[in-house]
Amino acid sequence: MSGLEHFRAENAVDAEVAIVGGGLIGCMTAHELRRRGRSVLVLERGLLGGQSSGVSFGSLRLQGQHAPELPLALHAQALWTEVETLIGESVEFAGHGHVHLAVDDAQEARLAGNAEHGRAFGLPIELIGRQEAIRRWPFLGASVRAASFSARDAVVNPRLVAPAFARAAQRLGATICERVEVLAARHDAGGFALQCRDRDGAERTLRAEVLVNAAGAWSGTLAGWFGETIPLFAAGPAEMVTEPVPRFVEPTMHVVDGSVLFRQTSRGNVVIGGHPRMSVDATTRRTRVPPDKMLTNLGRLVAIAPHLRAYAVIRSWTGIEGYLEDMMPVLGPSATTPGLFHACAFSGHGLQLGPAAAKALAELITTGATALPIAPFGIGRFSAEGRRQVHSLAEEFQDDVLHRPG
Ligand SMILES: Cc1cc2nc3c(=O)[nH]c(=O)nc-3n(C[C@H](O)[C@H](O)[C@H](O)COP(=O)(O)OP(=O)(O)OC[C@H]3O[C@@H](n4cnc5c(N)ncnc54)[C@H](O)[C@@H]3O)c2cc1C
Repeated sequence: MSGLEHFRAENAVDAEVAIVGGGLIGCMTAHELRRRGRSVLVLERGLLGGQSSGVSFGSLRLQGQHAPELPLALHAQALWTEVETLIGESVEFAGHGHVHLAVDDAQEARLAGNAEHGRAFGLPIELIGRQEAIRRWPFLGASVRAASFSARDAVVNPRLVAPAFARAAQRLGATICERVEVLAARHDAGGFALQCRDRDGAERTLRAEVLVNAAGAWSGTLAGWFGETIPLFAAGPAEMVTEPVPRFVEPTMHVVDGSVLFRQTSRGNVVIGGHPRMSVDATTRRTRVPPDKMLTNLGRLVAIAPHLRAYAVIRSWTGIEGYLEDMMPVLGPSATTPGLFHACAFSGHGLQLGPAAAKALAELITTGATALPIAPFGIGRFSAEGRRQVHSLAEEFQDDVLHRPG
């Protein structure tokens, strides 16, 4: 029975766990829960991976990741190396590493700081002078002063990830419904009642014992149904891609202030990203990159890799990502409602953190505890006391949140 048929069936069995959102977080969590034998229903109002998950740059970056997130990120990276074996499909995982570039003194100091910080967590980061950088990557332009290399960083093809995990979860027995929107939800003595509507306007109330909020940039609405606040804002990094060009680079190249980054796919296309992120309209769910923004980012690109001037950009896009001011997700149990779990507002890092976030959530749901380091991500940090702690954390990361790398 397809997900939609299941939704419409009179006597459909409601699930132990209902997941709102069929992005990579929802699909990975469904897969982890099925591996642990729980019945799972994923409710996605659009298409699987149709929002942030399907449009990301594709970077699994560890280098420069901030301290509260790095332990979970390292765990996630170990899981990523096994993902294709686990789900039996390729997501074009490529462990070519990640290069940070510096174009001035301040950025060079930042490379050194990142390397020291990485070492403190057992992540080796190699510092590289200009001469050696040019030897390894001869295409680099005159502005590059120094580089740092993290070999454990990787990339995947983001378009493949959510659908591949959904298929793997389905093979294990999960029910995945596309084009079913959750309009409202409440909690009562019997668990959760979800008021849902399918693409033809048919409405039904589904029941579940456990509810997972994996609704991405829209997760604040779901939290609000249970009296909780997730003070996220929606923003979108600008992305572009060139026609296929002769192979010239393996690792991702990333000016350390985030102003431009690029990677070459196995087909030869160069995917280009760059800050600042743009504000986007989460209500219309449509986004685009303005032409002036494209020109700015292309100017920065050819300063780093001048030979790319000769090639054509064939597409631009952005997406709607939920950010929090401390650039960390909300991951863990609700503070108001037993059986409700949040896994959202990944602030630009959800692809990298995904496998570990899903594992932590599945452990919490099935055993009530997880040994994974998710303590910094509790929803309690938005209480008055929590906010004070977050504020002091945020001060460590000085620039405007829209301009931060990653
Ligand atoms: C342009 C861009 C580049 C990025 N680059 C990177 C990168 O290089 N590395 C990295 O780690 N991260 C990156 N990210 C971030 C990463 O893509 C996200 O953190 C991750 O995809 C979040 O996954 P998600 O499942 O939480 O959210 P989403 O993929 O947004 O999924 C949430 C889903 O919930 C659904 N939904 C919402 N409300 C309802 C409802 N009421 N009923 C039913 N369904 C609902 C939505 O339709 C959506 O499909 C990038 C993001 C963008 C936009």
